[in-house]
Amino acid sequence: MTDHANTEHDLADRPVTRAVPHPEPLNPRGIVITCAACSASRDWLLIQVRTLVFVRCRCAHEWQAHDLGAGDFDGSYSGPETEWDSFEQMYRGLGFDGLLRGCYLG
Ligand SMILES: [Zn+2]
Repeated sequence: MTDHANTEHDLADRPVTRAVPHPEPLNPRGIVITCAACSASRDWLLIQVRTLVFVRCRCAHEWQAHDLGAGDFDGSYSGPETEWDSFEQMYRGLGFDGLLRGCYLG
């Protein structure tokens, strides 16, 4: 479902700027975001790459969140940043590689 070769933040040349777990629901326009793949409604990973924001689900489904901007990170961002060598390492390290599909940890 998710083909990273075609995503805009392909790990080849786009470093992770920020990745922030977001346990609560997201409703940037008053409508709660749900995952198109597994219908989850919270417990996201927000990924900011330059000015683009992506939402990633525990099931590993990921999409660009046009309704979210870099400013949305400032409210939820806390704690030290962790550097990861690759997106795959980050996803595994944070539990967003699909193994926890259907689980809410937050
Ligand atoms: Zn999902």
